[in-house]
Amino acid sequence: MRQSRYFIQTLREIPSEAEVVSHQLMLRASMIKKVAAGIYDYLPLGLKVIRKVENIIRENMNKAGAIELLMSVVQPAELWQSSGRWNHFGKELLRFKDRGNRDFCLGPTHEEVITDIVKSQVNSYKQMPVTLYQIQTKFRDEVRPRFGLMRGREFIMKDAYSFDIDDAGADVSYQKMYDAYKAIFTACGLAHKVVDADTGSIGGSFSHEFMVLADTGEDTIISCNKCEYSANVEKAVVVDSGEKENAALKDMEEVATPNKHTALEVAEFLGVDIIHVPKTMIIRCEGVVVDGREEDIYVACMVRGDHEVNLSKVKNVVKAKSAEFAEHYEVLDKTGCSIGSLGPCNMPLKVYVDNALKYLCNIVVGANKEGYHIKNVNLERDAKIEGYFDIRNAMPKDKCPHCNGEYQETKGIEVGHIFKLGTKYSESMGAKALDKNGKNIPIVMGCYGIGVGRTAASAIEQHYDEKGIVWPKAIAPFEVVVIPLNTNDDEVIAKSDEIYNGLLSLGVDVIIDDRNERAGVKFNDAELIGYPLRVSVGKKSLSEGRIEVVIRRTGEVIFLDLSNNLADKVKEILDTKVI
Ligand code: ATP
Ligand code: MG
Repeated sequence: MRQSRYFIQTLREIPSEAEVVSHQLMLRASMIKKVAAGIYDYLPLGLKVIRKVENIIRENMNKAGAIELLMSVVQPAELWQSSGRWNHFGKELLRFKDRGNRDFCLGPTHEEVITDIVKSQVNSYKQMPVTLYQIQTKFRDEVRPRFGLMRGREFIMKDAYSFDIDDAGADVSYQKMYDAYKAIFTACGLAHKVVDADTGSIGGSFSHEFMVLADTGEDTIISCNKCEYSANVEKAVVVDSGEKENAALKDMEEVATPNKHTALEVAEFLGVDIIHVPKTMIIRCEGVVVDGREEDIYVACMVRGDHEVNLSKVKNVVKAKSAEFAEHYEVLDKTGCSIGSLGPCNMPLKVYVDNALKYLCNIVVGANKEGYHIKNVNLERDAKIEGYFDIRNAMPKDKCPHCNGEYQETKGIEVGHIFKLGTKYSESMGAKALDKNGKNIPIVMGCYGIGVGRTAASAIEQHYDEKGIVWPKAIAPFEVVVIPLNTNDDEVIAKSDEIYNGLLSLGVDVIIDDRNERAGVKFNDAELIGYPLRVSVGKKSLSEGRIEVVIRRTGEVIFLDLSNNLADKVKEILDTKVI
């Protein structure tokens, strides 16, 4: 590619709308352009990266035996009604009507569409196992689209779905995708970790997330410092252990706590350890089956003052479809009291208590009366509770459930997510097949997603410096940039062209920066865009009988003598020294 004829307009200034490095650098390096919140154009350089990530994914999917297809983006409501998700997916699902007033949505994921395909085409165990995948645009109307390609509304996803006649087969299909995902992220040059994850709104029996490790990640990963266990904070199990405090139970006492709302404020005001001042929170649980009907219910949850409630665990304990903190007005409506003075005594809602509170006595709780708390509360004696559960976030130093190690915390970006779905969709949508005994049974499914744009963006979060992006070679927009430093010097141009053409014929993805610009401008752009290898050809170095090669990642400078076959040598450096 000749840069003078290409389409790159780099920016010097950091765009004010971009909070994270990958977003800033993708905008500055002319890779993407914002169209609307969470919606981006892929400019030529950005598209090259996206295509490279897609090709790595495609290669590994094919190797794992998955078969590519392409489904429609627009999906009819009937399919979503048949799985029961039309009413449950929430506002992320962008719904619209066609001219005939029929309901449609833009696909945020394709379980319904693929199940419908398989239902119509597969009716015997002999046609399975089969795993189908596509690489395609998804739309999710995210509440907070941000960070560029990291959390878009329109984004490219690879989604795969496996179909097996039984559970054992489904486990084999799952494992194949698990292995393929590891191979994909390794091939993209990304340090990553696989963690146990919650199944979320997709549903199903178990799941893993693939996390790219980066300090800027939105996800918190909990892992053991001794064994292999790691999990998303939403899922990480907290071991129920401790010893009951050995203190005489005192009598309850109501105390005024004017304008003290948080656990910390109340603890400081009363001169009590924060551990003894639990938080009581009201949580709205949607889709709970009550008397055979799905309803939205409100519950109170208590965790220690120094702990955080985990909504995903609450959702599972209450057997809800989703769980969210209730808004102020809902809390007032359901309890007659506002946030900050809530407590378990005389609470009109069911009270779920975190295990850690089992070991405490004489605690301080809100009195369900504005500006008052109650001292010396002992839950079993003074409140009616549903029981003790694991409903808090794991924290560093918590015990590992599998060995005698301790938890530690790191940040990560979720780039891939795999689910063992079981028969959730095949049952609701009637996708059945005959097993070996001639019995018509629901097909066992798995689903597997990778965010293509998010993978590219997370590569930047993991690989950048103050000058710009440091692409892993496998997904760099170009592997090598050749820079003629003096564009009015025939010898410089001839030598640069020779190296450029030589590299092209060796199959290297190379760009030549033949613009009539100062060397400094070209170097800055090359570093910003992040080409892994830079070859510079200048009048001065030619007169010294050599050219200069710089490895972007390490800054290592290598001089090549003109007597070499330069293209071969550059390719050799690229193959052996650049990652
Ligand atoms: P998150 O928790 O980050 O919203 P998710 O659990 O909703 O992700 P999945 O439904 O598992 O995501 O989708 C599969 C993959 O698609 C994710 O692992 C991620 O890489 C990507 N992805 C999901 N939502 C977005 C988005 N809004 N923008 C870009 N990529 C996304
Ligand atoms: Mg999501």
